[in-house]
Amino acid sequence: MVLPFFDFLLCFLIPRDILSPMESYELIRSRRKTLALEITKDCRVMVRAPLGLSQAKIDAFVGRHTDWIHTHLEQQRQRMASAPPPPTEADIAALKAKARAILPEKVADWSRKMGVAPTGLKITTARKRYGSCSRKNSLCFSCFLMDCPEEAIDLVVVHELCHIREKNHGPRFYALLGQYLPDYKERKKLLR
Ligand SMILES: [Zn+2]
Repeated sequence: MVLPFFDFLLCFLIPRDILSPMESYELIRSRRKTLALEITKDCRVMVRAPLGLSQAKIDAFVGRHTDWIHTHLEQQRQRMASAPPPPTEADIAALKAKARAILPEKVADWSRKMGVAPTGLKITTARKRYGSCSRKNSLCFSCFLMDCPEEAIDLVVVHELCHIREKNHGPRFYALLGQYLPDYKERKKLLR
């Protein structure tokens, strides 16, 4: 979870134990007008409160919402329990090694076919973005792309190379992509 910068400057954390000892909440005060409750992805209870609001009022608010808190905590715990374990450092190192072994050649091959010239190639550990192309035409690929099938890897490579010619995702971009990968829609389904 990301706090807006301004909130972050003003926040301070106080563990509260009006729930059970296992379910204390964290309080973040900031320049806001209302109270808000949140269950974080890692199963913490967060309360956001205005700077001047009394502790008694905040506790009463939490007290009125204990059912909601318990229900949502339990849901989040179940979600966490069924989620696959996060990749270890060794997993990431292996994916990066694979990316370094196969991507430079793929990028070079496709660049030749497409008549484009990327200015750089970097491997990242981004979780939400498989690839990007900078304004200066330097490419980044996430090592997690290596978990996808070959057809999907090619799609991301060609997609980013298309951005050397077309910086946005307009009709000309997709016309170009379709010219090199006519089945790009099918390939997209293979991206996990
Ligand atoms: Zn794009």
